[in-house]
Amino acid sequence: MLTDYHLHLRPDEGGTTFERYFTAENVERYLAAAEAAGIEELGVSEHVYRFRQALDLWTHPLWVENAKDDIDAYCEFVRGTPLRLGVECDYVPGAEERIAALLEPRDFDYVVGSVHFVGEGDAAVDHDGFDVWEGEGDADEIWRRYFEALAACARSGLYDILAHPDLVKVWGRARPLPDRDLRAFYEPAVEAIAESGIAVELSTAGLRKPVGEIYPARAMLEMAVDAGVPIALSSDAHTPEHLAFGYEQALELLGDCGVREIAVFDRRRRRMEPLG
Ligand SMILES: [Zn+2]
Ligand SMILES: [Zn+2]
Repeated sequence: MLTDYHLHLRPDEGGTTFERYFTAENVERYLAAAEAAGIEELGVSEHVYRFRQALDLWTHPLWVENAKDDIDAYCEFVRGTPLRLGVECDYVPGAEERIAALLEPRDFDYVVGSVHFVGEGDAAVDHDGFDVWEGEGDADEIWRRYFEALAACARSGLYDILAHPDLVKVWGRARPLPDRDLRAFYEPAVEAIAESGIAVELSTAGLRKPVGEIYPARAMLEMAVDAGVPIALSSDAHTPEHLAFGYEQALELLGDCGVREIAVFDRRRRRMEPLG
């Protein structure tokens, strides 16, 4: 079994309207790409901030600008296709009850929990315009805050899959790196992940980013595997061309780390299937 669950039907920028991308023809393009890549389970996980309902969770300026679509129209559209129905929902500290109220009444197959924003204010680890690195740029502090938020995201119990687990490294050498052994950051996060029972995503998206590496780093993946954390597999593609991007490298890394099964989801119930 191969999956691609963390998937977007449209690019993030540039007037990408719901009407233009949530069409049978566009889904066909993704299904054809999946078939060519041997992906059996394909699902879509739109960013929550694309939906008007997300403004109940947070009113970050990026969200206000993008919250144009209706989440129920999205669910209804995806249920009319062969795709699994997911959503990528940011963890917003303090909004746990409102996040649950958004997710629970809807029949998602899985919910991908992600951390993009860290600490005080609107700053993100991966977003031009809201760049956390523009401020004081203390790598140790930013990494610590990122992994604390990741641990809280896992512990919230709101999510099935933890997205791009070390996204904080996205810019690679273009931003400062902590000078400590990075395992000091991974360790408490992996402990929270293992206790929470959430699955962790192996995401090939980092291969397309300045860092040029899979998320998570091998050392973090090894720790997660040792702790018995279930692994999910995704590309975080925003176009059909990026579907299953870099999966050969992903399978090699998973094999090296002793991962033989991947997490598969149906109406938020997880089962494990042989990988490959
Ligand atoms: Zn994300
Ligand atoms: Zn995504």
